Amino acid sequence: MQTKIHPSLIDSPIVQEAESILRSCVHCGFCNAVCPTYQILGDELDGPRGRIYLIKNLLEDNAIAIEANQHLDRCLTCRSCETSCPSGVQYGRLIDIARGLIKVKSPWFYRVKSYFIRKIVPQRHLFSTLVTLGRLCLPLIPHVLAKHIPPRVQPSNIPMVSKSDNCEGVLLLTGCVQNIATPNVNQSIAYLLDSLKVDVNYLENEGCCGALEYHLSAHDAGIEKMKKLVLRLHEQLHDNFWIISSASGCGVTIKDYPTILQYETDIIAKAQEVADRVLDIGEYLSRFPNLLSANEAEGCQAEKLKVAVHTPCTLQHGQNLSELIKPLLRAEHIEFVDVKEGHICCGSAGSYSIMQPEISAELTQRKVSALELHKPDTIVTANIGCQLTLQSHSDVRVMHWVEFLAEQVLMTKN
Ligand code: SF4
Ligand code: SF4
Repeated sequence: MQTKIHPSLIDSPIVQEAESILRSCVHCGFCNAVCPTYQILGDELDGPRGRIYLIKNLLEDNAIAIEANQHLDRCLTCRSCETSCPSGVQYGRLIDIARGLIKVKSPWFYRVKSYFIRKIVPQRHLFSTLVTLGRLCLPLIPHVLAKHIPPRVQPSNIPMVSKSDNCEGVLLLTGCVQNIATPNVNQSIAYLLDSLKVDVNYLENEGCCGALEYHLSAHDAGIEKMKKLVLRLHEQLHDNFWIISSASGCGVTIKDYPTILQYETDIIAKAQEVADRVLDIGEYLSRFPNLLSANEAEGCQAEKLKVAVHTPCTLQHGQNLSELIKPLLRAEHIEFVDVKEGHICCGSAGSYSIMQPEISAELTQRKVSALELHKPDTIVTANIGCQLTLQSHSDVRVMHWVEFLAEQVLMTKN
């Protein structure tokens, strides 16, 4: 795709990077078939190929109309189009760059929502206090807000692990939302790792990975957070030390730090070293024998369970780890049910369910119907946003797959 860059942008390295991505698109339109917003809205401009044309116009005019910008705002950044593109167009990177160049203001209510999400969610204490207050006042809160308040979590029966003296150690990222909304996830990981004789370390006052702000077009604030986290994680690095992420939305962002921070010359080398040491918890556990079948082999009589797996976009399209979860949960007593359209987003997509509630709700409903079709006992996923969004639309228990694994391992041991 030939692009005549606007004279005011021509010397910008990030614009040149965008132009080279645009050049790789051959307009075939294969990507439209896997785009959730194109499927729902049926408008070429709400599909990847149409958005690519809008971004081309943005680079040529150094401006975008409000109406055109709304098509870009409606993109989930799920990167399903990237997985299906025969030309390897890096659409996710392209729209990230475009969002940093857009000067036109979105509608006021969109900006207000964006501001509150960016200011509240990454601040752990403030977010935690608001969630607690929200749960207490739930009957008084309008439904449109109440549905975004994470429900109270039952205490887990997974034993708490105190610091032990195992032979290998990892640093577990606890995540800003996950740590408050579903604390059993980190407790389950600590239990599983301890049973593998792995020490779990934490980063004090971990903070946010910057994804939230970056994907809400607040690039400078997001990059500042990323740089801070790179420096703190880099201090922790030593041989054979892995940084483990269990929220695939955070994991994909940290793995992408070398791309996002490539023009931050003071930090790029450290960002690369940090990214090279980051693993999703599933990648890390795959290095060990299957915990569940190993325990089951000892002669357990566990009850048969039907499980539906939802692989988040950030795991399958963002990290190219679409087949990670099932092998780790494989056991005699587990039956995986078929789930159609597994490549399509559940509508959560970071803050999307708040920013674009109508489209998000429709996608979630479709995803829940697909997951529930064969009547599973449990739905498992790998990202806090998907977990909360799916649970808010389903009566079936929705868990992070590590919670499910820890529960099963504990049961088969007893
Ligand atoms: S992004 Fe890829 S699949 Fe979509 S139109 Fe361009 S080349 Fe074709
Ligand atoms: S990232 Fe997802 S929503 Fe956005 S254009 Fe690609 S497939 Fe469509």
